[in-house]
Amino acid sequence: MEFDNSIILAVFLGMLLLLVILFLGVMIAGALAPRPSRGAPLIASEDGHFEVAGKRISCSHCGGSEFSVNQILLNTWLLSLFRIDWLDASASVLTCVKCGQLTWFNQDSAKVDE
Ligand SMILES: [Zn+2]
Repeated sequence: MEFDNSIILAVFLGMLLLLVILFLGVMIAGALAPRPSRGAPLIASEDGHFEVAGKRISCSHCGGSEFSVNQILLNTWLLSLFRIDWLDASASVLTCVKCGQLTWFNQDSAKVDE
Protein backbone atom coordinates (compact mmCIF):
# COMPACT_ATOMS: atom_id res chain seq x y z
CA MET A 1 0.00 0.00 0.00
CA GLU A 2 1.40 3.37 -1.04
CA PHE A 3 0.78 6.72 0.70
CA ASP A 4 0.51 9.89 -1.23
CA ASN A 5 2.97 12.55 0.01
CA SER A 6 0.19 15.11 0.30
CA ILE A 7 -1.69 12.89 2.80
CA ILE A 8 1.43 12.55 4.96
CA LEU A 9 1.97 16.31 4.81
CA ALA A 10 -1.68 16.99 5.73
CA VAL A 11 -1.49 14.63 8.73
CA PHE A 12 1.77 16.22 9.86
CA LEU A 13 0.36 19.76 9.58
CA GLY A 14 -2.81 18.68 11.40
CA MET A 15 -0.77 17.28 14.28
CA LEU A 16 1.35 20.46 14.37
CA LEU A 17 -1.78 22.61 14.48
CA LEU A 18 -3.17 20.45 17.30
CA LEU A 19 0.07 20.90 19.29
CA VAL A 20 -0.05 24.69 18.82
CA ILE A 21 -3.70 24.78 19.97
CA LEU A 22 -2.87 22.62 23.02
CA PHE A 23 0.11 24.84 23.86
CA LEU A 24 -1.97 28.03 23.62
CA GLY A 25 -4.71 26.41 25.75
CA VAL A 26 -2.22 25.56 28.49
CA MET A 27 -0.75 29.10 28.36
CA ILE A 28 -4.19 30.75 28.59
CA ALA A 29 -5.36 28.42 31.39
CA GLY A 30 -2.17 29.19 33.34
CA ALA A 31 -2.63 32.92 32.88
CA LEU A 32 -6.29 32.82 33.97
CA ALA A 33 -5.65 30.62 37.04
CA PRO A 34 -5.89 32.43 40.36
CA ARG A 35 -2.54 33.84 41.45
CA PRO A 36 -1.09 33.41 44.92
CA SER A 37 -0.84 36.42 47.22
CA ARG A 38 1.95 38.77 46.13
CA GLY A 39 2.68 40.59 49.37
CA ALA A 40 0.81 42.77 51.83
CA PRO A 41 -2.07 44.66 50.21
CA LEU A 42 -1.43 48.12 48.78
CA ILE A 43 -4.12 50.22 50.45
CA ALA A 44 -5.24 53.51 48.91
CA SER A 45 -7.05 56.22 50.87
CA GLU A 46 -9.37 58.82 49.35
CA ASP A 47 -6.79 61.65 49.69
CA GLY A 48 -4.11 60.10 47.45
CA HIS A 49 -2.07 58.44 50.20
CA PHE A 50 -1.04 54.79 50.12
CA GLU A 51 -0.02 52.25 52.73
CA VAL A 52 1.68 48.84 52.58
CA ALA A 53 2.32 46.51 55.53
CA GLY A 54 1.13 49.15 57.99
CA LYS A 55 3.52 51.85 56.75
CA ARG A 56 2.57 54.95 54.76
CA ILE A 57 4.40 55.21 51.43
CA SER A 58 6.54 58.28 50.85
CA CYS A 59 8.55 59.20 47.76
CA SER A 60 12.21 58.19 48.08
CA HIS A 61 13.26 61.26 46.05
CA CYS A 62 11.28 64.22 47.43
CA GLY A 63 9.55 62.75 50.48
CA GLY A 64 6.10 63.48 49.02
CA SER A 65 3.20 61.31 50.17
CA GLU A 66 0.57 61.92 47.46
CA PHE A 67 0.51 59.52 44.52
CA SER A 68 -1.62 58.58 41.56
CA VAL A 69 -1.86 54.86 40.75
CA ASN A 70 -1.85 52.94 37.46
CA GLN A 71 -1.93 49.23 36.66
CA ILE A 72 0.98 48.29 34.36
CA LEU A 73 1.26 44.97 32.48
CA LEU A 74 4.34 42.88 33.24
CA ASN A 75 4.74 41.56 29.71
CA THR A 76 6.42 38.24 28.98
CA TRP A 77 7.94 37.49 25.58
CA LEU A 78 5.91 34.34 25.01
CA LEU A 79 2.46 35.87 25.52
CA SER A 80 3.59 38.96 23.57
CA LEU A 81 4.66 36.70 20.69
CA PHE A 82 1.09 35.39 20.39
CA ARG A 83 -0.35 38.89 21.02
CA ILE A 84 -2.17 37.74 24.16
CA ASP A 85 0.01 39.72 26.54
CA TRP A 86 -3.13 41.15 28.12
CA LEU A 87 -3.19 37.83 30.02
CA ASP A 88 0.10 38.68 31.77
CA ALA A 89 0.24 39.73 35.43
CA SER A 90 0.10 43.42 36.29
CA ALA A 91 1.77 45.65 38.87
CA SER A 92 0.65 48.81 40.62
CA VAL A 93 2.78 51.83 39.82
CA LEU A 94 2.53 54.87 42.08
CA THR A 95 3.49 58.21 40.51
CA CYS A 96 4.57 60.92 42.96
CA VAL A 97 2.32 63.94 42.41
CA LYS A 98 5.13 66.31 43.45
CA CYS A 99 8.15 65.07 41.43
CA GLY A 100 6.86 62.27 39.15
CA GLN A 101 9.05 59.46 40.45
CA LEU A 102 7.58 55.99 39.83
CA THR A 103 7.37 53.40 42.60
CA TRP A 104 6.41 49.84 41.65
CA PHE A 105 4.45 47.32 43.72
CA ASN A 106 3.72 43.74 42.78
CA GLN A 107 0.21 43.66 44.24
CA ASP A 108 -2.97 45.36 43.07
CA SER A 109 -4.17 48.40 44.98
CA ALA A 110 -7.26 48.19 47.18
CA LYS A 111 -9.30 51.27 47.98
CA VAL A 112 -10.31 51.85 51.60
CA ASP A 113 -12.75 54.54 52.75
CA GLU A 114 -11.60 56.62 55.69
ZN1 LIG B 1 8.52 62.66 44.76
